[in-house]
Amino acid sequence: MDPSPEIAGRIVLVPTPIGNLGDITLRALEILRAADRIACEDTRHSAPLLARHGISGKPLVALHEHNEARRAPELIAAARAGETIAVISDAGMPGISDPGYRLVQGCIETGTPFEVLPGPSAVITALIGSGLPCHAFRFGGFLSVKSGKRRSALAAALESGETAIFFESPHRILSTLEILAGLNPAARTCVARELTKKFETYHRGTAAELLGYFQAHPPKGEMVLLVHAAEARETPTSGGG
Ligand code: SAM
Repeated sequence: MDPSPEIAGRIVLVPTPIGNLGDITLRALEILRAADRIACEDTRHSAPLLARHGISGKPLVALHEHNEARRAPELIAAARAGETIAVISDAGMPGISDPGYRLVQGCIETGTPFEVLPGPSAVITALIGSGLPCHAFRFGGFLSVKSGKRRSALAAALESGETAIFFESPHRILSTLEILAGLNPAARTCVARELTKKFETYHRGTAAELLGYFQAHPPKGEMVLLVHAAEARETPTSGGG
């Protein structure tokens, strides 16, 4: 349903920094300052970011994976009644392994105006920094805790011929690299750690090399795993041509 011109309010999805608190756009700050309320994944987590930019005393409401289905209609009703509601997650782009999808779906279904601001995400930052082909890529979210499902996700990624991006926890990365190296030890692999933070590191190599490295240096911090198996195709530098 198209947004109704009579509705004065709106929902705005606002990306926030993934580590470096300076990574917030002017427009994001404008919206956060102007919003009637801010829906946060975790209000305690977001308070320091808001305080750093002089945003205080604003009503904050929790919107997380456990209450999004119930809370989305309430926020949509408030936007339809005229409120501007900013939506932020703990870090990065709302909706990317974070709450946001149901809210956008609800806005579309009810014809409620919404906007998405561009901004930081660990997915795109890791992709570009990995040096792996970025003209075609797939994002698989968090890899499963179950090793069988991880194996099938990685096997499909290797077969795709595209760069595949996954979120992985430091507790499972070794076991995931073992699976990956078992499937294709030569697969081009990158583990992007602590992006935009003081100890940001890109570990690049084959799956077997990274497995060996992390066996000797147990990994820490937030991380993104990227893998690419096919021969690099000709890489267009810009669209078309
Ligand atoms: N919505 C976020 C985004 O757009 O980047 C992702 C949220 S998801 C719940 C959190 C996962 O993203 C982490 O477990 C990690 O895999 C990845 N991540 C987030 N920030 C990161 C960082 N600074 N460095 C590396 N990985 C990060």
